[in-house]
Amino acid sequence: MNSSVKQFQSQTALRDRLDRPMRDLRISVIDRCNYRCPYCMPAEIYGESYKFLPRAHWLTPGEIKRIAGLFVGLGVNKLRITGGEPLLRRDLDEIVAGLAAIDGVDDLALTTNGTRLAERAAELKKAGLKRITVSLDSLDETVCKTMNGGKGDVATVLDGIDAARAVGFEPIKVNAMVQRGMNDHTVLDLVEHFRGTGIIVRFIEYMDVGTLNGWQADQVVSSKVLLETIAARWPLDPLQSNYRGEVARRYAFKDGKGEIGFISSVSEPFCGDCHRARVSAEGTLYTCLFADRGMDLREPLRAGASDADLVGLLQNVWRNRADRYSELRGEKITRAERVEMYRMGG
Ligand code: SAM
Ligand code: SF4
Ligand code: SF4
Repeated sequence: MNSSVKQFQSQTALRDRLDRPMRDLRISVIDRCNYRCPYCMPAEIYGESYKFLPRAHWLTPGEIKRIAGLFVGLGVNKLRITGGEPLLRRDLDEIVAGLAAIDGVDDLALTTNGTRLAERAAELKKAGLKRITVSLDSLDETVCKTMNGGKGDVATVLDGIDAARAVGFEPIKVNAMVQRGMNDHTVLDLVEHFRGTGIIVRFIEYMDVGTLNGWQADQVVSSKVLLETIAARWPLDPLQSNYRGEVARRYAFKDGKGEIGFISSVSEPFCGDCHRARVSAEGTLYTCLFADRGMDLREPLRAGASDADLVGLLQNVWRNRADRYSELRGEKITRAERVEMYRMGG
């Protein structure tokens, strides 16, 4: 860690207006994706002619490393690379290597749809990536295709997971977003497939992120319902959280065949323990997944701002943060104003 970063880290702990520290940074490295999941990037809107960010607007690996280092100096110790689909970025290994070289990072993880994982798992491991989460909503080919906009197949994602295991990623997590009437009937198959393999399946409640997915409350299958369904087949014991602010509630199979998790963003919001900042591919800082605006870091970065200037901006934003959208759901921000999830980093 360079001396200026150390100096900032030694300052009084940074807290937001609700007394939450900043611990966790999600870095979106790209706004493009090879899937068109209707709940995230519906194909009708993100067609051939859709204008994504020009590549020159993406933060470079060096810029990402610099910004992340400043966040680490302010208390962040967990980094997650996301997107869009991060594996579409050719220089991802360089990004990972830069982040892995920052002192003070306990965890460096990646979220991917898994379609390009088989070909890149080894280089990511070599670059210093610690953990991988693969999104896979269903093992049923038809359901999976409906949920990814007809773009990918289950076998490719499973090959990606195998490749990641083969190069030593451990534990691998599989995230499945559950939408009523879409994939809820395939949940038990997913659990059965991964039980006993060491891979941890986590179910995510369908969220009203962005403005385009036409979210309705009755499409959410609550974690409680899923837990009851799964526990009726394979009895479960609750597990302690690994750390304060862990978003997933963890359960172990009573028969010793591993664990599963539930992320209940809608039914049990966890804003009180939300220690997460997000930086988009173009370098905009967001302090909530449901934000309607962020703060541009790329412009000052490219205009020659010093580390101290940039840290001042980050501190100012975090100190003024009062976000708790999920706790206020429906009361505050209208749908027309939100930034899309693939853009700020899911
Ligand atoms: N493309 C990568 C992927 O799909 O893993 C990374 C980015 S994606 C936005 C990250 C996660 O957000 C995925 O697991 C996806 O299922 C989840 N996601 C997207 N839209 C969602 C929504 N409306 N509700 C809940 N989760 C959502
Ligand atoms: Fe792409 Fe991930 Fe969004 Fe699906 S959820 S469209 S894979 S960014
Ligand atoms: Fe954090 Fe915002 Fe989600 Fe609440 S709604 S948990 S503040 S990202």
